[in-house]
Amino acid sequence: MTDPATVGDARFSELQARLAAVRERIARATAAAGRGTDLPRLIVVTKFHPADDIRRLAALGVTDVGENRDQEAAAKAQDLADAGLTWHFVGQLQTKKAKSVVRYASAVHSVDRPQLVDALAKAVLNEQAASGRGNLDCFIQVSLEDDAGAHRGGAAPADVPGLAERIAEAGGLRLAGVMAVAPLGAAPEPAFEKLARISQRLVADHPSATAMSAGMSQDLEAAVTFGATHLRIGSDILGSRPAVR
Ligand SMILES: *Cc1c(COP(=O)(O)O)cnc(C)c1O
Repeated sequence: MTDPATVGDARFSELQARLAAVRERIARATAAAGRGTDLPRLIVVTKFHPADDIRRLAALGVTDVGENRDQEAAAKAQDLADAGLTWHFVGQLQTKKAKSVVRYASAVHSVDRPQLVDALAKAVLNEQAASGRGNLDCFIQVSLEDDAGAHRGGAAPADVPGLAERIAEAGGLRLAGVMAVAPLGAAPEPAFEKLARISQRLVADHPSATAMSAGMSQDLEAAVTFGATHLRIGSDILGSRPAVR
């Protein structure tokens, strides 16, 4: 249910306009890439913004939201349990948080090491026994940095096949595909081209793992060009994030 106090206020109108502008950019990029009406799925990354903004977004037709910290995400998901939203976890994840994340998340976009696969599988199976939830969609986060020391999280490309195998063999997990964040301070196109090649190799071994989660506010057009199926957009829809919380 939507809280009527949030619908039609000034912030609602602001979010409506910003969301429309982003949807327009996605549609243009999709057409320019020759993808016809194959629109990527829009995940609005709502980290640092209040649950009321997520209510406004839900009233504007947003179905998928992304968060990167378990404590914040768990509280919002509980607050918005009635909103029918799909929750995506997109941040670096400690194994000890797996149990909490699988209570609300449909997908984890940041699977980057074997221990996390094992922790998520165990947590999902327990949660399935308790609540009957569905399988957890897992995206393997790949590091696209040339310099491993500077990386923003993610597995090395060479580790993707092993992680994929481990996810595919685990109960309760569904291998969705790959995810990446473009390197800071470099053109995103070569990075997303590299991710597309990694995705193709993954699909050769796992034909249903076709998802490619790539593209943020600054680089969504480049991501769409190289085949992104899921876009994770925060600031261009919600505005800049508060520096302190
Ligand atoms: C915050 C975040 C986003 C959204 O970034 P914007 O630049 O605000 O669009 C996307 N992906 C991840 C992993 C994030 O942490």
